[in-house]
Amino acid sequence: MSFEKLGLIKPLLGAIQELGYTEPTTIQKRAIPLVLAKEDVFATAQTGTGKTAAFALPMLQRLRNTTADENRPLRGVILSPTRELSIQIHEDITNYSKHMHVECAILVGGKDIEMQQRALKKGVDIVIATPGRFLELAEKGLDLSHIEILVLDEADRMLDMGFSKEIRRIHPMLPKRHQTLLFSATYSDKVRKLSKLILTKPAFIESSKRNSTVDTINQIAYMVDTDRKAALLAYLIGSRNYPQVLVFTRTKVSADTLYEELQKDGLKCGIIHGDKTQANRLKTLSQFKEGKIRVLVATDIASRGLDIEELPYVINYELPSVPEDYVHRVGRTGRAGREGEAISLLDIYEKYDIKDIERVIGMKIPKETVEGFEPDPTIRRKDVEETKLKSEHKKPQVKKPPKKVFKSPTTSKKRKTTKRDSK
Ligand code: AMP
Repeated sequence: MSFEKLGLIKPLLGAIQELGYTEPTTIQKRAIPLVLAKEDVFATAQTGTGKTAAFALPMLQRLRNTTADENRPLRGVILSPTRELSIQIHEDITNYSKHMHVECAILVGGKDIEMQQRALKKGVDIVIATPGRFLELAEKGLDLSHIEILVLDEADRMLDMGFSKEIRRIHPMLPKRHQTLLFSATYSDKVRKLSKLILTKPAFIESSKRNSTVDTINQIAYMVDTDRKAALLAYLIGSRNYPQVLVFTRTKVSADTLYEELQKDGLKCGIIHGDKTQANRLKTLSQFKEGKIRVLVATDIASRGLDIEELPYVINYELPSVPEDYVHRVGRTGRAGREGEAISLLDIYEKYDIKDIERVIGMKIPKETVEGFEPDPTIRRKDVEETKLKSEHKKPQVKKPPKKVFKSPTTSKKRKTTKRDSK
């Protein structure tokens, strides 16, 4: 099926052709006609499925009859959980709307609110906003009485981040008759509850298996001792000649530590986490996209909304604390049908966490070892003890493994103990 058959107009068809999209993805085939028909939509679609175009293209078509009048009202709102995702959506919308006159602005926290208010006064048709900042602007008098379309992108993530209150407060501020499109990677109870509140007779779209990872991603886990993870990572990148790798850590502290260690190994690295300024994060991201940085170390803050064309490798240096985040992390590769590889480095502490992830994605991840980095078998024997502790719902009290000398392809470096902190 072609994009023409979905009922899209010429300016949009031209733009997507220039972007090299030849055929609509599954979610696009199903969502575009429904959005054009002004239906409410509840779609479970994960990142990498083409979900942004699925709501953005018909939204642009519906809201295209705009004037150049500076006093024209705001008609479309896209709520997104993070600044990064908002910027990504804005970039996509700018590309899709290049042959039409639709003005689009980003309203995210951490930026000067007065500047955003001034920008809104110049006439804006669609805003992409994080819920907190959008509510703040609405309470300061942003006119919502002409809103025709509300999109909640990655609704599950917004709820996980605690934005439920803001969304519930924004909803009654909108006109009674407006169209709502809810996109969520997962079909959690929280999302279902919210959908009942904000959607009217929605059409349901389940574009992929729940929580499944994209089929084109080759997933593998390497068993390794905690204190050899950094050396194994540097070895994999070097020996396999990975050109561009996104590496996820669980915490900011371990991201910082790993960043320093990889730099000592001579790898060109960048780092993104919640303590970095927005400007710094954007600069690092664009350097990574341009290939000036080979390894980008990031916490889960980057696991959504980061869209890098043809990113071939994602490495989970540490597994995420929430199993669902695994889906988002590995979804950074294998995008739009391209091949990708997701590698997880598993130490003894994470052997159990991966089982939760396997349950979520509905498949087993093959576990292997890399020659020269095999885990110490004497530490493995403690598994028995761990299993027992786990079944008693206690946190395993396994001591740090004794350092063991291997004949390895790279020099082993002792990892500093990491504190668990937030993203
Ligand atoms: P998303 O799931 O919206 O984050 O999109 C994932 C990636 O797929 C983005 O890089 C889009 O530009 C790309 N994309 C979206 N739709 C198509 C399509 N029909 N054909 C090829 N690429 C697409």
